[in-house]
Amino acid sequence: MKKIVLYILFIILLMFTMPIVFTNQFEQTEQTVAEEQPEYEKANYGDLSIIRLLHNETGEVEELEFDTYLYGVVSGEMPASYEFEALRAQAVVARTYTIYKIAHGSKHENADICDSSLCCQAWISKENRLARWEEEKREEYWSKIVKSVDSTSGRYITYEGEPINSFFHSNSGGKTELPINVWGGSYPYLQVVETAGEEAYNGFSSEIEISKDELIQKMLEKKSDFQINFEETECIKILELTESGRVKSVKFGNIHLSGVEARQVFGLKSTKFEVFLEGDKIKFKVVGYGHGVGLSQTGSDALAKQGKTYEEIIKHYYKEVEIK
Ligand SMILES: [Zn+2]
Repeated sequence: MKKIVLYILFIILLMFTMPIVFTNQFEQTEQTVAEEQPEYEKANYGDLSIIRLLHNETGEVEELEFDTYLYGVVSGEMPASYEFEALRAQAVVARTYTIYKIAHGSKHENADICDSSLCCQAWISKENRLARWEEEKREEYWSKIVKSVDSTSGRYITYEGEPINSFFHSNSGGKTELPINVWGGSYPYLQVVETAGEEAYNGFSSEIEISKDELIQKMLEKKSDFQINFEETECIKILELTESGRVKSVKFGNIHLSGVEARQVFGLKSTKFEVFLEGDKIKFKVVGYGHGVGLSQTGSDALAKQGKTYEEIIKHYYKEVEIK
């Protein structure tokens, strides 16, 4: 009798605990991808061990371990389908960028950095990242991202012993730009650098076509005294190019714009463009994507495909630097 009571009690206990066991198992499998990388030693970041990340949309500040923060940056900034060495270069560049930004004073009051590529550098949560990948690629891609960060843990780029301002962009269009032509200022390690193979990527070349009316409207928003006579030859003309072949200054009617201003006014992917007046339309032919300064992401992938390591890729884009 006692045995039967015990047996029943055991069955009841099992009924309650089984779902817990199963639920835990499911939760664990969902997280395994991130945690199963014990092969690399984590760096000790000292004062930087926690990064305060501002989420621009909600205004919330999230505290993350440095390398965990970088998983979100690398997966937000570079396609996981890129070569592993390119992802490692991106991880080191993103780490350096973060260290530099914090050392030179955050733009944000209660946070070290934010999640916008327009302000600081992109960041995406693991949950959102996984949701955007095809299901069968999720595990492989996430593990590749984690490995790119963990296998370079603690490594960052220095020039004369100091962390560099490691600008990066999507596609240089074959040649990178000097920062002086974009924001002003210059850094000895940021020079014009050529990379072959970037034409193979989406975003290398693009076109924008607008009507004469649209041009007038956009220019008037920028300069209220804008005037143009489309009958005049050279009413639209590129006046000067930078060392990397980007537009330094361009004339629309009575107004001269810098290439950077024109990019912003017409929403161009880069300042490496040609402009044509064709009938009633103005056509922009654009090469490259982004400001063009520092490391090119598609260029890094092209270099990795040629067999370059992440260190070689970094030293290709930043001159006379060391990787600590
Ligand atoms: Zn920011």
